[in-house]
Parts: sequence; structure tokens; C-alpha cells
Amino acid sequence: MTDKSPTPSPSSHTADSLETRCVHAGEPRPRPSGALVAPIYQSSTYEYHGEDYHDVGYLRLSNTPSQLSVARKIAALEGAEAALVAASGMSAISATLMAFASAGDHILAQDCLYGGTQGFLRGELHRFGVSHSPIDPQRPESWEALLKPTTRVIYVETLTNPLVQVADLEAVVAFAREHDLVSVIDNTFASPVNFRPAEHGFDLVMESCTKYMNGHSDLIAGSVAGSAEQVHKVKLTLDHLGGALDPHACFLLQRGLKTLAVRVRAQNGSALALARLLESHSAVARVNYPGLASHPEHERAAALFAGFGGMVSFEMVGGTAAAETLLKAVTLPTVAVSLGGPETLLVRPAAAIHSQFSAEERTASGIADGLIRMSVGLEGTDDLLADLTQALEAV
Ligand code: PLP
Repeated sequence: MTDKSPTPSPSSHTADSLETRCVHAGEPRPRPSGALVAPIYQSSTYEYHGEDYHDVGYLRLSNTPSQLSVARKIAALEGAEAALVAASGMSAISATLMAFASAGDHILAQDCLYGGTQGFLRGELHRFGVSHSPIDPQRPESWEALLKPTTRVIYVETLTNPLVQVADLEAVVAFAREHDLVSVIDNTFASPVNFRPAEHGFDLVMESCTKYMNGHSDLIAGSVAGSAEQVHKVKLTLDHLGGALDPHACFLLQRGLKTLAVRVRAQNGSALALARLLESHSAVARVNYPGLASHPEHERAAALFAGFGGMVSFEMVGGTAAAETLLKAVTLPTVAVSLGGPETLLVRPAAAIHSQFSAEERTASGIADGLIRMSVGLEGTDDLLADLTQALEAV
């Protein structure tokens, strides 16, 4: 469906600051009926005006005004030519991998990926004849030995979960170009405020918009951004998988995106302060945060990122027992999975998000039983510092 009334002349604002893009990019212009906030187009189908039938508006085809408007905003934020929204982060990831890998093909994938992505690679993709090899993101010299004539994709995450490691991202782009692979990156932990992979040469950028992009812990959504041609290829697969985002979720996501820059910058600031506090405390054995000089990839992160993010993880000296005591002693943070919302969330990965892995697999990935992951929210920094201090003293 081409953009006809009431959403003509979308404003792209790609030359503006990120803050301005958050507010204005992709919004319908002129404003439908003058409404300051773009309406929710809660219609499954749209009137036929003689266009190609593939372009007629239909919600599952992600070509209706609410979907197009939020996708345009995301493209502008990512610094990409085009974007597509999907029903979840996993929906965007699975459609992208299925669009670029067919039976008999092979994928190089970072060895410590989000569990859902690992599960999809090991499960569905393997069942359908797509194999993958794990790569050590810090050792580009080891990647070539894993290449096959059938390798099509190289897949990494900007910041890993839960150890917040930073892969050699520039090497990933160079390797993909040299070997004619599609480079795909899950940028969920960074968000486009801290890092815009498309501007560094990545072909496709995924976000679980459930996290920072929406930022209010009240919806599930995903996005993929890149060249118009490659995003269209993903869209055709998403159309068949039925993973379109519904108009009400588009509206909420569009609203959330307007405050993305200010939210993420506040979270960056609090996370750094909390990481420093944790690093100075005797109950904590180790802190993982790329903003700390002690982080092994601190220099790379400082060179590439505009901010170090809101995700911190730390290992308690007293292992599981100490970690569990701390989780009970905090009063502001909530113990819950997910991340990127206004509420500070804590989770012990060995008991929750990494419990499906064996103890040996967790040890091999560096995930100790006493490790806690923290998604720093939007509470006052001093309040969070005070609460974490009293909880550490209780251990
Ligand atoms: N990527 C990362 C890094 C995640 O943390 C998650 C979810 O936690 C996903 C992708 C999947 O996103 P969703 O839950 O929106 O499908």
C-alpha cells in the first residue's frame, strides 16, 4: 500500500539529532486530522484503489499506516535505509535467519547468544537443514577455519548476555565483506542510542523492541533494519510466518521511542555509578560493565559506543547463597527477567535465563552460579546506590 491519505509525506528527519529523530522521524505529515499523536489504525484490511494486490493494505503484510510509521522512525534511528517491525524480537530474528539461510546452508554465530536465538539455531534451523558453527567473538583469526562454501550469514550481538562482552565488531563487518556473507547483529542491549551498527557497515540490525526501544515493560515487539532490498526479503518471510506487529503495539512502541534517547542516557549514567559501587565492594568478586576500565573490551567499547548501556552483571564472593541473600535484601529492584524498562530488574542467570544449560555449559561460558544480572532502570541514581549499598551490607 503506498502512503495515501491520511499518512502522506512521512517526515524522515534523518539529518537531525537522535533526540529529534526520536520525536519526529517517521511521523505522518500532514498530521491526520491535525492529531499531534499519530492515530492507531485498527483495521485489518484497506480499500483497494487499483494498485498491485501485494501493496494493498493488510495487517499481516506489515504495510498499514501504524506499522509503516513506526518502521520509518526505527529506520531513522538506526541510520538505515529501511526497517520492519515484527511481533517480537524472536519473530524478527527467526524471519531474518530464515530469509538468508536455506536447507544446506551454514551460519557462523557468536558462541554466547541470547538463549532464544541459540534455541532457534540448534532447534528449528537444524531441523530444516541449516547448520551453524559457534565463533569466538574475540578471535577473528579463528573464524576462517570454520567457513564452509555454504556459509551465508555471520551473526553476533553488540553486547552479550549476561557478561556484557563486546565482540570485535569491526572485524565481523570486514570478514563478512571479504567472504560475501550477510552480517547480522542483535543490538538489543545497546539500542541505537549507544550504537548504530548499520553506520558501521552491518547489513541487518535486529532489536528486541520489547526492551529499550519501547522501554516501558508493557509490550513484545521486534525490528529489523538495513537496506530496503534486504529488509524487503525479510518482510516476505515474515509475511508467511505471520509475525506482523499489531497496530496497538505499534502505537505503544512509537510512543516509547519518542523518549528513547533521554531514557537510555539516564540508564547509562546510573549503570556506570552502580558498576563503580559494586567494583569497590568487598562482597563482589567481579563486575562486568564495558564502562569500567577493568572490562577487557573497555577500549573497544569506548571507541565504538556513545554510551556503555544499562546492563551490568556481577559475581558475588559468596556464590549462590550470597547472590540469593542480595536478591532478597534489595527493596527497589524487582527480581524478574527482561530488561530495558523503567524498573530496575535483577536476575540470577544460572537459576533463570541460563537454567536450560548444563552446569558444565554455564561454566564454559563464564556464567558463575553467584552471578547477578542487573537491568538498570530509571529510578533516581542515588536511591539505587543507597538501596544496593544496604543490600550488599546485608550479605
Ligand atoms: N535478543 C536479546 C538480546 C534478548 O535479550 C531477547 C529477549 O530477552 C531477545 C532477543 C528476544 O526478544 P523478544 O522477547 O522480544 O522476542
